[in-house]
Amino acid sequence: MKWKAKVQQGIMNYTGLQEYPEGVLSGRYGDYFVNMTWDGTTGIYTVVIDAVPTVPPGLPAQAFLGQMAAQKLADRGYSCTGAHLSARIQGKNSADKTVAKLMTYLDTAVHYLAENGFISGCGSCGRQDAALNLCSVNGEMDFLCPDCFSRVNQSLELNRQAKKAVKGNPVAGIVGAFLGALIGAALWVLIYHLGYIAGLAGLVMAVLALKGYEKFAGNLNVIGIIVCLAMVAVMIYFANNVAFALEIYGAYKTEFDIGFGDAYRAIPEFLKDSEISAVYYKDLIIGYILTAVASAGTIYGMFRASTGAYKTKKF
Ligand SMILES: [Zn+2]
Repeated sequence: MKWKAKVQQGIMNYTGLQEYPEGVLSGRYGDYFVNMTWDGTTGIYTVVIDAVPTVPPGLPAQAFLGQMAAQKLADRGYSCTGAHLSARIQGKNSADKTVAKLMTYLDTAVHYLAENGFISGCGSCGRQDAALNLCSVNGEMDFLCPDCFSRVNQSLELNRQAKKAVKGNPVAGIVGAFLGALIGAALWVLIYHLGYIAGLAGLVMAVLALKGYEKFAGNLNVIGIIVCLAMVAVMIYFANNVAFALEIYGAYKTEFDIGFGDAYRAIPEFLKDSEISAVYYKDLIIGYILTAVASAGTIYGMFRASTGAYKTKKF
């Protein structure tokens, strides 16, 4: 994602990194290949340093992580795989403070790595004798040698084919999706009854429907996702009606000796009142919007995990 101009300029002035490709600050800082990205939704910066220990017996990357964790410099966590050290750092409100926080981490990390004999190369295998390219693998950036880049592609492709070879059972999947959505609907009614925005249950409903489909069918493909979303859309409508009918039932049961079924059937009658129908449709529309917004990323993530779909690029 495109950086805020002040933060980007600050980091580039300090480090000499360049914006390449768009939204990624990359290059060499000191002796190390570095790339930095920003997620504007969470405000989290990811700082990747490609470094591998060389001095025999070599300090493990785990020692590096321990050092950085002890100093609490990356407050959103670290990970390391191969020769790739990744730190996640929460941005601050002011650009200056954000730059200072990022630079404190970067300088401390690079200093530690240099002192302990880490050298920089391909972010996966660590070799230094190959031309490195900045690559993106499912949105994660790293400097990779040509061998590693093609190996990553190969294994992602094998994984995708293995997932594709699984023969799913869509009929069982529909049953699973229905059960999942039903649990979500119950939650919807409960939240509505407690007086909160029932739309919050929409994400839960969508996730449960997808999980239900995946579990029962054995896989989740595009058709499965469409089935789940259609089911969730219908289920939200009914959940909202049930919640609405429960309110009617609660308000009129003693006065008119009605059952829940009577209350449900009376909904159209109640909706003729413009004030009541305004509330009804507001709940429903907010529910749909919240569900759609909250679910989009989750659904994409589940789809990718389930199908092995991937995206790689060499810059
Ligand atoms: Zn490599």
